[in-house]
Amino acid sequence: MSATDTQEVGQANFELPPEIVEIREMTRRVVREELLPLEPQYLISNAHCYGARDEENLRVAFGDDKVYERLKKISQETGLYNIDIPEEYGGPGLGLLAQAVVTEELHKTLVPLPQMHVANILYECKGEQIDRILKPVIEGKLKTCFAQTEANAGSDPGGMMKTRATKVDGGWKINGSKMWISMAHFSDILMTQAVTDAEKRQRGGITMFLVKRDAPGLKIEESGIPTWLGNRPRQYIVHYDDVFVPDEDVLGEVGKGFSLGQQWLTIHDRLMRAPQALGKMQRSFEMSVEWAKQRVTFGKPIADRQAIQWRLVDMHIDIEALRSMTYATAARADAGIDVRREASIAKFCGGEWGARTIDHAIQIHGAMGEALELPLTWFYRLLRHMQIGGGTTEMQRMLIARQILKG
Ligand SMILES: Cc1cc2nc3c(=O)[nH]c(=O)nc-3n(C[C@H](O)[C@H](O)[C@H](O)COP(=O)(O)OP(=O)(O)OC[C@H]3O[C@@H](n4cnc5c(N)ncnc54)[C@H](O)[C@@H]3O)c2cc1C
Repeated sequence: MSATDTQEVGQANFELPPEIVEIREMTRRVVREELLPLEPQYLISNAHCYGARDEENLRVAFGDDKVYERLKKISQETGLYNIDIPEEYGGPGLGLLAQAVVTEELHKTLVPLPQMHVANILYECKGEQIDRILKPVIEGKLKTCFAQTEANAGSDPGGMMKTRATKVDGGWKINGSKMWISMAHFSDILMTQAVTDAEKRQRGGITMFLVKRDAPGLKIEESGIPTWLGNRPRQYIVHYDDVFVPDEDVLGEVGKGFSLGQQWLTIHDRLMRAPQALGKMQRSFEMSVEWAKQRVTFGKPIADRQAIQWRLVDMHIDIEALRSMTYATAARADAGIDVRREASIAKFCGGEWGARTIDHAIQIHGAMGEALELPLTWFYRLLRHMQIGGGTTEMQRMLIARQILKG
């Protein structure tokens, strides 16, 4: 990374604990020495299809599994591999603040460092579910995805969800279809929300089921709608046709599945999207500063022009503000505080400010801003997506408004 590092400035009123600073520096070194050198080939290969697993992306980009295996080894040796796993399950038990700091560093490039990611709600597994599901997920033997959205139930899943689960002897029968389900085809278990009480719906009438991929009646198909996030279709439609799910595969309690979904969304799809945005914003900012200093027009570097300086300043302000709120929100969540409102704000800003920051970077780079060998256009797509996936900008506004007016 360049010497223009606003992260030091950004911590003026938020002192990171020394052990997290150490992890940040180590992660930064891994990014600089191991990931960035791979980036040009990775980008040109178009392998970085959003929604695919790291393993497959790296294989597509480099032709075999060697790069993946090497990066996985580095990830394991540095302890980054299982950074978000609690101590009782063999991880370092670092909290969300440390994860946010590491995530920011890793998202300075699209080249992925293989890591374990366990959905927070799987820690709701009880009794024999722990050995049968949670532990194999932690060990990387089982993969999961989150299936909430349907063709007509995106922003309003609680009100519009049609997928139903009907009680039968020993379990439930699920019928319906889910759409836009990322990574469904890689997943062994689909964390599926279904309506179990049509009257109560999101207030006690939606349940979360751990549906096995090979359950009779379950069909996963490509949506046939490739998006601009990748050059291959990565979104899936999942059909449930009388799929039997035994009682022991209910996650949490019957009727509590909507709030479990909200727990997943708050942390994974809202709070942790902010450091994903920050990494891309910081890298684009650093690239822009370097470019502006060396690109000469009309006898002067473009960095001397106020039009360019103001873009850099706007980028810098967005990054500083987003970093402060992200760290503060992660620290509050680590302290056990309900951060639903703050996570929505962080997600909102990550998407909105993230996209406008990358837009500045593309403009400062001129024609090179559109070059596919640079990460800028790819960063832009991912951050523009952030305004839709995980709940749109409008839905975050609605959630924030609710919290403001409630109190
Ligand atoms: C690449 C990708 C990956 C995804 N991965 C997953 C996944 O893994 N699992 C999963 O369950 N879902 C996933 N989704 C679905 C995603 O969460 C939804 O698409 C998203 O929540 C928006 O829903 P929608 O597309 O139905 O938009 P709609 O609900 O139809 O909304 C359309 C527009 O209207 C606005 N709008 C809606 N209602 C209101 C209102 N009351 N007031 C003001 N504005 C409103 C919305 O903000 C939006 O701008 C994914 C989507 C994409 C594109």
